[in-house]
Amino acid sequence: MPSVVIDLDIIAENTRRVMARLEGRVAVFGVTKAACGSPLVARAMLRGGAAGLADSRLDNVQRMRNSGITAPVMMLRIPSVSEAPEVVRLCDMSLNSEAAVLDALARAAEEQGVVHDVILMLEMGDRREGVPPEELIPLAATAMAEPSLRLAGIGANFMCASGVMPTRGKLEKLCNLADALEQRFGTRLDWVSGGNSSNLALMETEAMPERINMLRIGSTILRAENSFTGGTLAGFDDGAFTLEAELVEIKAKHSLPDGETGPDAFGNRVVFEDRGVRLRGIVNLGRVDMRPEGLKPRHRHVEIVTASSDHLIVDITAAKKFAVGDTMRFEMDYGALVQAMLSPYVDKKLAGRESIAPRPSAVRLIAAPDLHDREETRAFVAGILNLGMEVKRDGSPEAADLPVWVIPGREAIFDLLDTADNEAVESGLLWVDSDPGEVGRIANPEAAAIFAIQRASREQATAIAGRGILALTMEDIDLVGIREAARKAIQRVTQTTDGFALVLHASVARGMGEDVREAGLSYRECSALMERVAASQELRAIVLSGIGENPAAAALETAYGYLLSALGKRILSGRPD
Ligand SMILES: *Cc1c(COP(=O)(O)O)cnc(C)c1O
Repeated sequence: MPSVVIDLDIIAENTRRVMARLEGRVAVFGVTKAACGSPLVARAMLRGGAAGLADSRLDNVQRMRNSGITAPVMMLRIPSVSEAPEVVRLCDMSLNSEAAVLDALARAAEEQGVVHDVILMLEMGDRREGVPPEELIPLAATAMAEPSLRLAGIGANFMCASGVMPTRGKLEKLCNLADALEQRFGTRLDWVSGGNSSNLALMETEAMPERINMLRIGSTILRAENSFTGGTLAGFDDGAFTLEAELVEIKAKHSLPDGETGPDAFGNRVVFEDRGVRLRGIVNLGRVDMRPEGLKPRHRHVEIVTASSDHLIVDITAAKKFAVGDTMRFEMDYGALVQAMLSPYVDKKLAGRESIAPRPSAVRLIAAPDLHDREETRAFVAGILNLGMEVKRDGSPEAADLPVWVIPGREAIFDLLDTADNEAVESGLLWVDSDPGEVGRIANPEAAAIFAIQRASREQATAIAGRGILALTMEDIDLVGIREAARKAIQRVTQTTDGFALVLHASVARGMGEDVREAGLSYRECSALMERVAASQELRAIVLSGIGENPAAAALETAYGYLLSALGKRILSGRPD
């Protein structure tokens, strides 16, 4: 599968650079829309000093809120009347230009018992959203008349619909309007929101007026793009997002098609230049995944020739030597980035030292004293040592430990996982259990999967659906098969995280619990799932739950067997491959 590699350190560092360039005078709202509201990207921006976040889609804001982000969030796209209640529920602030929408926001805020901040947008020539200057005062009066709205500021947008630049003259006009509005209503505006990344690019040559105290910055942080020249903005790093895909064919082919030609698979008539025989590669990426026009190879002298739905054809005649199976890397433009982030066919991987926890080198087995003394436990410890990992006993998990808790019931699972939680990294949760437990406490539903459940109370079912947790029932697993179900669950818990915790309850699979009728997964199925867990190389913590106070020898042995598979033991080889 092709993947987008997201370097969170670069995103945080680019945010710091924006802050430095603005010399702390201007608040930055980090714009997450090109990253589809990825909570990891949002957190990296906040780490870098962003005062808040901004996105154009409610779904994206919901994702951020679901993952526990409480920072101020601004809605960028002027809201529709019908979505006003959701805007008020999810966002602290919105950009506006219509009295009817202000009314709807006011009603919604009133109903929800909150005060919603509004920024009024001015049309300063780019001909996108906003009121003409002469209509600002009446619109402001509408906002001021609503007790559930607070007029937080005014703003403008540039270089979007028409490429009009945020020149000093334009920005001074905006500041004058802010002054006029304050005088007229005897009020003070928190914000004069002067624009987007293009303002930063223009600051290279002219200073921004003092009065501008907020910018909404996306592409400079995410793509280091200079909005004017299209190149990279000096001093910023353009490596935050890289698309990686594999070369699946390399052959010498003539640059001209052979035979009479009609339109290609997408109805376009492509004209090719005669360059003789060229060395061509095929990369496992296509129009289904990506608009190829939005890609730029990160390797020197690699050229994109064309693409079909599943194949990207590159000319590598003048490039370094490539082999089939090699990874090719591409830079993405704004549209391609959004597409890649949205595509289910493109995996998401994380990079960046600051944001990535060290890979575990030791297992820390935390259990009751009499369990440690059991013969089965000693055999388990020997098995872990055999896998080449160190074993520690009890105490608190350290950074490079993979904690394994063995507990009698379902209680305290979240408290245990909290003790291993590294605040800076986002972790997933794979919960393998016949009963979904305290689903309401799952911190990061976007990265959680509940596997092999057989029953759920009405509250549990509501929490699963409402919070968007992936839940695979035994029926689902029977339907698609264990391999596909395991793939789906592991993708879910690894896609936007740096590692995940596994909760395995004794009731879920053959051989661990007292009641064999309850066990949904067969021995083979549970082992297959555990092998998939090992293959992901992203396992960071285990809770073996529900084994009771005094487990039977055979049950304990089976449970440990599953855990060894999850840690990487294969039937025929002692070490993970
Ligand atoms: C997308 C958007 C931005 C961010 O633009 P960048 O060029 O990515 O910094 C700012 N303001 C509004 C209203 C937007 O829609």
